Amino acid sequence: MRVLLHIDDAETWREALVERLPDAEIVTSDAPAEARRDVDYLAVWKPPAELLREQTRLKGIVNLGAGVDALLGNPGLPAGVPIVKLRDAGMSDLIGDYVRYGVLHFQRDFDRYRRQQAHREWREHAVTDKGDWPVGVLGLGAIGAKVAETIAADGFPVHGWSRTPKSLEAITCHHGDDGLVALLGRVRTLVLLLPDTRETRHLIDAEALGALPEGASLINPGRGTLIDEQALLEALGEGEREGRLRGALLDAFAEEPLPADSPLWSHPRIWITPHMAGPTPLSAALDQVADTLRAFEAGEPVATVDPDAGY
Ligand code: NDP
Repeated sequence: MRVLLHIDDAETWREALVERLPDAEIVTSDAPAEARRDVDYLAVWKPPAELLREQTRLKGIVNLGAGVDALLGNPGLPAGVPIVKLRDAGMSDLIGDYVRYGVLHFQRDFDRYRRQQAHREWREHAVTDKGDWPVGVLGLGAIGAKVAETIAADGFPVHGWSRTPKSLEAITCHHGDDGLVALLGRVRTLVLLLPDTRETRHLIDAEALGALPEGASLINPGRGTLIDEQALLEALGEGEREGRLRGALLDAFAEEPLPADSPLWSHPRIWITPHMAGPTPLSAALDQVADTLRAFEAGEPVATVDPDAGY
């Protein structure tokens, strides 16, 4: 089989993939045009549209990340070619740590202590018991379900939300519109691990933020498009005056890199990280890519992306 790789540091990926698939011919996207064309499979992260358009006999595409929004929105994407995305591949451990940090940040009042430090104010806050700090996780997929379980294992009551009904030990599972309203009304920290789709875009708008209890906090390692930024800023309040929402830890943004003139940068109750919550661990990802390509070639069933659902 012939495979074309497109990702930063493609040569490192190529060498590691050759070890796993010694019989495959694997080329990187900086190869001359004739070597790039007519491959059987693409293994890509945010490829240029031209790279997709120039293929004539593609049998499958492996998306080298968990989010497929960029690929599905690529104008060069051919219709009908099966797409497989990375499933967890170690990202859930990293995102679990990120979310754990964020939940503790608010539950143990680090945001308030930071503000007090600016005024040299020595004042201790009573600790809210973890059992009285329900956490909501929107998205119970390969990553969301594991993150929810990590937070539950830490002692927080966890409510999860998905499109289809789910049953997960230690998680109170909700689905559908009513399920979302029930979840929002009772969580002190809301975590977003949904994909970017037609249905999820701006899901966290003024109404959703207004449904959260007073003083709730938000953590978004999912996608920036999930949040209506203007509504977020309004919910956070201005200057020293806290709004309904106490603070937000944000890793993903509608436009990345976040533009220098974005008001999010300077807001006192927003913490910004540059899409670093879940970098793809190379070795586990390569194992998945090799397994997927082998399964494609053998005609075995593979879990493919549903382009209509958008994830
Ligand atoms: P999956 O595709 O495995 O799961 C998506 C989850 O979202 C599923 O539980 C699905 O429900 C749910 N969902 C989708 N649409 C809706 C909807 N309309 N209403 C309710 N629930 C919905 O994704 P992953 O868990 O692998 O990843 C989640 C997201 O994390 C990715 O899309 C990506 O945006 C982000 N990510 C961020 C990284 C970072 O570094 N910040 C790194 C990796 C991923 P159902 O179970 O019913 O299908």
